[in-house]
Amino acid sequence: MTEFELIARLKPLLTTQPGVVHGAGDDCAVLTAPAAECDQLFKTDAIVEGIHFLPDTEPERIGRKALARCLSDIAAMGGTPTAAVITLGLPASPDPVRIEAIYRGLRDLAERHGVALVGGETTTNPDRLLISIALLGTVPKGRALLRTGSRPGDAIFVSGELGGSILGHHLDFEPRLEQGRWLSELGCVHAAIDVSDGVAGDLPHLLATTDGSVLGAELLKSAIPIRRAAREAARNPGSGKPPIVAALTDGEDFELLFTVAARDAVPVLDGWKARFPEVPLSCIGKITDRPGVWLRGEDGLKPMIGKGYEHFR
Ligand SMILES: [Mg+2]
Repeated sequence: MTEFELIARLKPLLTTQPGVVHGAGDDCAVLTAPAAECDQLFKTDAIVEGIHFLPDTEPERIGRKALARCLSDIAAMGGTPTAAVITLGLPASPDPVRIEAIYRGLRDLAERHGVALVGGETTTNPDRLLISIALLGTVPKGRALLRTGSRPGDAIFVSGELGGSILGHHLDFEPRLEQGRWLSELGCVHAAIDVSDGVAGDLPHLLATTDGSVLGAELLKSAIPIRRAAREAARNPGSGKPPIVAALTDGEDFELLFTVAARDAVPVLDGWKARFPEVPLSCIGKITDRPGVWLRGEDGLKPMIGKGYEHFR
């Protein structure tokens, strides 16, 4: 199958939305510019066979994951995704049925969130499949949730549950788009990020301040929401990782981690529970003046165990 034949098979799987003037098929897609009262968000991400998915992972779930990771970043900014382009790095003689199924998984999630798929590119990548997505989004002007802005005394919140993502969550997670938008509209969030490298890896990103000083955090061990999969994995012989460690250091949770002033903590928790009763929200600790991340347990206050998922190890 030639590249042109493959593209001809994939093109019908692309989607359009209002705001797309010309979709795939020309040298560029043509989109209407975002409204004056919006800021534009722009994000790219890539997943690679053998690292983010396996050769035998169901192809629909591979495509879904490729887009969901980008959507999670738009969610972390409080934005709304609008349009995406897809780059495939294909091994020699790719299976068109598999590639179409990947596109179907991607398209289904795109349609659910109103994302137009406005173009793609294929290239060869000899050993393994690679999927890269560039995604546009919008957020009301000045309302993007940023990583900087935490203050000492802030409450730290995390959505959902943490750890053991490798048992399936990393493929099937729901990007927290509605929740991110709701937080942006609330207007009281000091700093936010989506947890892709574990709370241990990502919380430090919320500790840098605009004046260059570094804050710390104190987490309450008993408040960490541990996913059942993290407990199940710990029961496997040879796992050697207690569930609390898995919850704090495993990658690919794709939950929202954010800080608000202590006085806003209860209203945010109550508002969230009323608006999103199906999505847990946990207050897991507070921002402190003392640098470093500390964990308070029955054995007192200890430095954070382990680190988050590190790329390029
Ligand atoms: Mg992110």
